[in-house]
Amino acid sequence: MKPRDLTRYLEDLGWRDPLDLPVEQRRSEVSNETPPDATVGAAPEFTDLAGLAQFLEGCTRCRLSEQRRSVVVGEGAADARVMFVGEGPGAEEDRTGRPFVGQAGKLLDRMILAMGFERGQTYIANVVKCRPPGNRDPKDDEIAACSTFLDRQVEFIRPEVIVALGRFAANRLTGTEKPLGALRGRWSHYKGVPLLATYHPAYLLRTPADKRKVWDDLKLVLAKLAR
Ligand code: URA
Repeated sequence: MKPRDLTRYLEDLGWRDPLDLPVEQRRSEVSNETPPDATVGAAPEFTDLAGLAQFLEGCTRCRLSEQRRSVVVGEGAADARVMFVGEGPGAEEDRTGRPFVGQAGKLLDRMILAMGFERGQTYIANVVKCRPPGNRDPKDDEIAACSTFLDRQVEFIRPEVIVALGRFAANRLTGTEKPLGALRGRWSHYKGVPLLATYHPAYLLRTPADKRKVWDDLKLVLAKLAR
């Protein structure tokens, strides 16, 4: 059936093209959730981390901007050899504007020290830069609205290794839905950068017995860096 015939056929069945409706009506009829603001359009091209951070401070590309206190851009060395990527800011990160500063962050700090680095020698970022309310998982359209920022961070920093912390970051960066147990301890690549997934420090706070596995993963990172 040709597209025009198909549209007429669907209209006969009572279907209306939601894109023909005014925006506000379209939102309320098609979904009960606010979509990313269509008027914002594509993110501008950035030339460096500072430009990216400046844009993010006023970013309204998705609904997470409505309830955030801070945009948690990420922090660390612009020439970091290792980049850690978590899921998204929690309450403490939202309050301070810094990634991984709560209890899980303190454990991440210890992991970094155990690797022989200072926190400030690494770069720490998240998949989404604003706190999902109530620490719920970020939604697909929120991740899509934010993905360009993580991509640019990886491109600007060009770390030697990316460590994905937890299943959420691991799934986003590997482009799979596999459980973390199937992903950790194996190398893949993100934008040409070697990528290793391991357990999220918040999980380790609940399951300290798995710290040994994380240390095994971090030793793989150290071996890669030594090469
Ligand atoms: N958990 C994350 O994934 N990221 C943070 O910044 C803090 C906690």
